[in-house]
Amino acid sequence: MDNCIFCKIIKKEIPANKLYEDEHVLAFHDIHPAAPVHFLLIPKLHVDSLADVDDNHQNLLGRMLILAPRLAKEQGCAEGFRTIINTGRIGGQEVFHLHIHIIGGHQRLPGMIHQE
Ligand code: AMP
Ligand code: ZN
Repeated sequence: MDNCIFCKIIKKEIPANKLYEDEHVLAFHDIHPAAPVHFLLIPKLHVDSLADVDDNHQNLLGRMLILAPRLAKEQGCAEGFRTIINTGRIGGQEVFHLHIHIIGGHQRLPGMIHQE
């Protein structure tokens, strides 16, 4: 995907503060962290969003979910963390390359959604 910022990170065309990489996935720190620990876990395969996955992505999604707690622990979130996958416009997705936010820190995270 030529215009995808996360594909550019995968191709090393733009820099990122990486914390994990293997054949299938990449993890890097979010450029605008919402908490002391905030990194993104992405597949190397370009998939627009969680709304676009199918049975072919089963192994990939499984790997990502299994990796998330391991990386969170390595980043200091031994007592818990939050995973978020924003999906589509209503879900607040800004970058249309599937990613899991992994967020944590030293204190309990605030509530998720505030009704206005
Ligand atoms: P979302 O709203 O779920 O699509 O979130 C996209 C996230 O990507 C935001 O938290 C951004 O701060 C983050 N982000 C955008 N560009 C970069 C980048 N070049 N390096 C690291 N994180 C980024
Ligand atoms: Zn992409």
